[in-house]
Amino acid sequence: MKRSAAHDWSPILAAERPVERFSPHGRYRLALAYANTYHVAMSSLGFQRVYELVHRTPEWTAERFFTDGVGMPISVETGRAMNDFGCVCFSVSFEEDYVNLVQMLGRARIPLRRKDRGPWDPVIVMGGSCASINPLPMSEFVDVFAIGAAENVLPDLLAALEEEAQREAVIERLAALDGFYVPAFHHYEEEGDALPKLNKRELTEEQMKQPGHLPTTAIVTPHTEFSEKFLIEMSRGCPEKCRYCWASFGMGRFRWHPTEYILASLERARPVTNQLGFVATAVGDHPDIEKILREANGLGFRTSVSSIRIPAVTEGVLEALHDSGDRSITLAPETGTDELRVKMGKPIPNSFLLEKVRLIFRHGFTSLKLYFIVGLPGETDEDVQGILDLVAQARAVMLEELPKKGLIGNIHMGVNVLVPKPFTPWQREPMDDEKSLKEKIATLRKGVARMPNVSMGSVSVRQGVWQTYISKAGSDAAEAIEAAAHGDPINVVLHRFAPKIQPEVYRRLDGDLRWHFMRQG
Ligand code: SF4
Repeated sequence: MKRSAAHDWSPILAAERPVERFSPHGRYRLALAYANTYHVAMSSLGFQRVYELVHRTPEWTAERFFTDGVGMPISVETGRAMNDFGCVCFSVSFEEDYVNLVQMLGRARIPLRRKDRGPWDPVIVMGGSCASINPLPMSEFVDVFAIGAAENVLPDLLAALEEEAQREAVIERLAALDGFYVPAFHHYEEEGDALPKLNKRELTEEQMKQPGHLPTTAIVTPHTEFSEKFLIEMSRGCPEKCRYCWASFGMGRFRWHPTEYILASLERARPVTNQLGFVATAVGDHPDIEKILREANGLGFRTSVSSIRIPAVTEGVLEALHDSGDRSITLAPETGTDELRVKMGKPIPNSFLLEKVRLIFRHGFTSLKLYFIVGLPGETDEDVQGILDLVAQARAVMLEELPKKGLIGNIHMGVNVLVPKPFTPWQREPMDDEKSLKEKIATLRKGVARMPNVSMGSVSVRQGVWQTYISKAGSDAAEAIEAAAHGDPINVVLHRFAPKIQPEVYRRLDGDLRWHFMRQG
């Protein structure tokens, strides 16, 4: 068998520091794939969690696959070919990776469409948040979707792979279990409500109170977005209810990991790194956040947090983060005016936000990232101008506070376009049209160009259109995804499949929603 023009994993592997050494000689082996580069994949706590859970299962070993390299994908651990495994399990958190997933199947010479696979082909499984949001666009390519937390679905998957000799038997067995969507058996698109709903097997509050349910980094490496950091999940869900946010509406109510488990995990981190990253959709809302940060500092760790909810910015949190060396904070005002922010389910006035901004700079933070979204339903030109006004006010606060400390700082605006997601209150909303979105982004760019020490990054509008389509589409998106996987640029795909794509993206959806065969969180 022809191997890939071998990607040299040795420098990457040499830099890895596993938190715990697992035996590489399991009797059973799972191909664990991420449809993006090593750098992106190993930045994902979800992917690292699955890797650890597989190894914690007696007699199992996971071998990792990423998109790096060309030709046959080979495992990082042993160089074994992807199509040599009985099952390839993809963890997918971003819809944009669908195209990469299909490309990886092609490179591995696994038939792209599940209907074309035979008894010797691997079972293709997809888990991760995309499987739970709307698996239908990938349902021609994937044999089994695992809907829910890895802690709940992985044991059933591994048991089926251990006990069933034939690929078809594995697939049939999983089809009978809750939490698995198996397109060959579940014809939701044709039969809709006539079939019982499928329950997402979310990690419950009770489970989180038990030991062994705290996701943390399994392998620390410099080659990730969170270079050298040991990541610890703080909570799930969010107490806020922004109307576009799947993390809040799809992941169940806000619940957090017990402080004792979080603190105990610091001991595991200590031998491999002195840097911690606390991650969650609402890190700052953990009731013991200050205590946890203080204890981590006391043990000599440098700490940082993922974006923090505006009301959760407190003196105590800022002091603890600053003491540990962190100088950057990320907030998400989302829009520029109080009125639109109320409409989007985040009733936080600009005056309150600016108080928090003052507190941040007063504590000596020099980098503030502010995330905004354009294309919200009901958004006016005044709302877009409001974003620039708000950033200008935040900048004025920065220029007032930092020079007192002899510091200079910067503000970075991250601008996204609204992608109305399944299972959110805005799931039926159309996307704002392309011309209007481009104009709004151009207005922001022009305004930011006049503000020294303020920068701006934005997503491509075309990419937003594509993401909206593949978030909401049915199984007939397969053709467009396959065309993109064969190398057609997204612009070309959007043009070629416009009669299919445009109604999905720009029409308000009435009646039954195709993804409602699943029950969330
Ligand atoms: S604050 Fe962030 S995580 Fe929470 S609902 Fe809003 S967007 Fe989602």
